[in-house]
Amino acid sequence: MYLRAPRGSGRPGRARKQPAAINASRFINKAIAPADETPYVPTHTFHDFGLHARTVAMLDHIGYTSPSPIQDQTIPLGLAGRDVIGLANTGTGKTAAFLLPIIEKLLTDRHMTSVLVLAPTRELAQQIDEEFKRFAAGHKLYSVLVVGGVNINRQIQQVRRGAHIVIGTPGRVKDLIDRRVLRLGMATTFVLDEADRMCDMGFVRDIRTIEAELPRERQTFCFSATMTPDVQTIVQEFMTNPELVSVVRSETNDHIEQDVVHARDKMHKIDLLLEHLGKPGYERVIVFCETKYGAQRLADRLTKDNFPAAAIHGNKSQAQRERALRDFKTGRLNILVATDVAARGLDIPDVSHVINFDPPHQYEDYVHRIGRTGRAGKSGIALTFVMDSRSNNSVPREPRGERSARDDRSNRPSRSPRGTGRNEAPNRSAAARPKRRRMPTSVETEDRLVRMIQGF
Ligand code: AMP
Repeated sequence: MYLRAPRGSGRPGRARKQPAAINASRFINKAIAPADETPYVPTHTFHDFGLHARTVAMLDHIGYTSPSPIQDQTIPLGLAGRDVIGLANTGTGKTAAFLLPIIEKLLTDRHMTSVLVLAPTRELAQQIDEEFKRFAAGHKLYSVLVVGGVNINRQIQQVRRGAHIVIGTPGRVKDLIDRRVLRLGMATTFVLDEADRMCDMGFVRDIRTIEAELPRERQTFCFSATMTPDVQTIVQEFMTNPELVSVVRSETNDHIEQDVVHARDKMHKIDLLLEHLGKPGYERVIVFCETKYGAQRLADRLTKDNFPAAAIHGNKSQAQRERALRDFKTGRLNILVATDVAARGLDIPDVSHVINFDPPHQYEDYVHRIGRTGRAGKSGIALTFVMDSRSNNSVPREPRGERSARDDRSNRPSRSPRGTGRNEAPNRSAAARPKRRRMPTSVETEDRLVRMIQGF
């Protein structure tokens, strides 16, 4: 059992410590055009992997002309039956990186409940299920989606009917195991997608319980954007001689133009938001709020002010979330107001702006939020609303242990080209600033991991 988060936190699972606010300077970044990045040259084509001809034709049909870096490096390992740790941000094509070898394996061994995929949120689990259905079309392979927020009885029936691959969130998967509906004793493949996020959401214990139901002899894929201590433990305990594939670029997305917008108070934030949404170019916007209640209220307010918006958060039913996402994806609505958890893993093309109406508490959340824009090599804009330092609220203060290699940004002169022209949040001089423990960068954690793997 994990502890409940405080009411309205928008986050299931363990209540998280709320560190002090992140220094506003970390929300500023002059975008580097995607074209500045050296393009990756894949070493394989989809044809080279030796996938079933129908799968290759399907990939071609849906426009996957060549493998993304994570696919290029993971698919051969997956096909060879290796355990793989994939260090990859969202939007890198990691879903196909594990699904394609899994489908190939299922074509030779069609046991029911051969594969279990765990994902942190319903939306991500659903996206994985949709991808599986696309890639496996015509192969007569079946999947079942088991996520919370919807009636369990239908899922019980579907699991009992049998499916080759079970895709779900840890809470619901564990529930089905406890009810002795889901039996994983024959599973040959285990996937943990966005393992860092699942751990962060307090699912570690559920994941352990679930893993204990699986045979030791199996293939395990673990994908994570960051290598947190929890993920390292999972890797050590659950995986056998894993191969590491890393395509993490930087801690944040360099191709996303990031800036802050200063507000005096809450009312002023709403005025500024309306003002921004009325500007040209705000075509598909995700607005982040801290709480479910706040997200709903803001969506209602925007709609009232002639900016039709839908909210997605943990209090919405699955059907409501799906409708909101569909409306947003199809362009019926161009504003989505979301909480962190609800938006995790969402893959929506062409999001022009991410607006942090409430700044995130953790820099990691910030990285995930802004990653909703600037996907598939496109540029994007992320704006973070911060209360003016002269108001009594939220003087941005650096949390202990939050600093990272990117912090050299905080020493740059502040600028606010898109903001309201107000003063930057005060930066204490380097000399006056107390020494803080620095968190390891992703490169350092990766190094540490490589050493750990070599020691297996
Ligand atoms: P993912 O990281 O798996 O959520 O994928 C991000 C997006 O990239 C999804 O919209 C995928 O459909 C798309 N995608 C993944 N792999 C490829 C590929 N090889 N070619 C084109 N699009 C891809």
